[in-house]
Amino acid sequence: MTTIQAYGALAGDQPLQPLQITRRAPGPHDVQIGIAFCGVCHSDLHQVRSEWAGTLYPCVPGHEIVGRVTAVGRHVTRFKEGDLVGVGCIVDSCRHCEECEAGYENYCDGMVGTYNGPTDDPPGHTLGGYSQQVVVDERYVLSIRHPESQLAAVAPLLCAGITTYSPLRHWGAGRGKTVGVVGIGGLGHMGIKLARAMGADVVAFTTSESKRDAASQLGAHEVVVSRHTEEMAAQQGRFDFILNTVAAPHSLDDYLALLKRDGVLALVGAPSSPHPSPNVFNLIMKRRHIAGSLIGGIPETQEMLDFCAEHGIVADIELIRAEQINEAYERMLQGKVKYRFVIDIASMGGQA
Ligand SMILES: [Zn+2]
Ligand SMILES: [Zn+2]
Repeated sequence: MTTIQAYGALAGDQPLQPLQITRRAPGPHDVQIGIAFCGVCHSDLHQVRSEWAGTLYPCVPGHEIVGRVTAVGRHVTRFKEGDLVGVGCIVDSCRHCEECEAGYENYCDGMVGTYNGPTDDPPGHTLGGYSQQVVVDERYVLSIRHPESQLAAVAPLLCAGITTYSPLRHWGAGRGKTVGVVGIGGLGHMGIKLARAMGADVVAFTTSESKRDAASQLGAHEVVVSRHTEEMAAQQGRFDFILNTVAAPHSLDDYLALLKRDGVLALVGAPSSPHPSPNVFNLIMKRRHIAGSLIGGIPETQEMLDFCAEHGIVADIELIRAEQINEAYERMLQGKVKYRFVIDIASMGGQA
């Protein structure tokens, strides 16, 4: 066991603070990773503040982890000391169900999250990446092929990247397809970059006129301000696929009407209260679909990282020190981040 520095909360109504936590010594199949950077995801905030059911304390969030391998167990074959690696939202799963065998560990009923998941080594619950070091079975560790200079900006690919890549790939975003991306935040800004790199015609949707230029710079061919009724009307029946990243409850009918026959509206944002029920006529008139998607499996997360390395894609980030995390949460709630905070773990001091 190793004692390391971390940042976490002792209760849902308390701010995050420095904590000391313990990690297991690497077992035969484990990879020990010295964490360099960890992205800050909206899920971290929901979980640590007990806005989702079942938060266990102390809660150390963080599932956008990048760093270097510092030790490997004797049966580890895919990694060696010094490799640049990442860990996303998943650190274990049942490994034998239909989902695990298909590489969809994200849909396994026994999926163990990188934080707040069950573990008996050490006994308790998993503690995430706002910490100096983590030990993970090699099956759930990803290789990073970006240059080291981009490492901080690679971190958000481990959740925001895969959450948008998986549905874009699954529903065939690519050349000749018209793809919409709704919302230009942590998820949406990745969705725009990825859909563009896949070769699709990309239209970004935002409620705010002020994001028009930013969306174009991210790679959107067109930007629609969804509050402008006439701009929305001009988009009717155009889209093969729309990726909706907005978590706040809103009318899905506005976007269903923009789909072609057989078009798909995929939801990846987790609303705190339900969206209003859609008008069924918007579905049956053109055989349209509403779908959902959750992060991605381990093989497709590796595929996404390799795709991003090949296309030079990283997240747009603001690097912060660990002690700025509470302030960063407040700014995230106000939408005042372009587009992802990443914690510089070296700022925790006192190397593990
Ligand atoms: Zn996340
Ligand atoms: Zn499974």
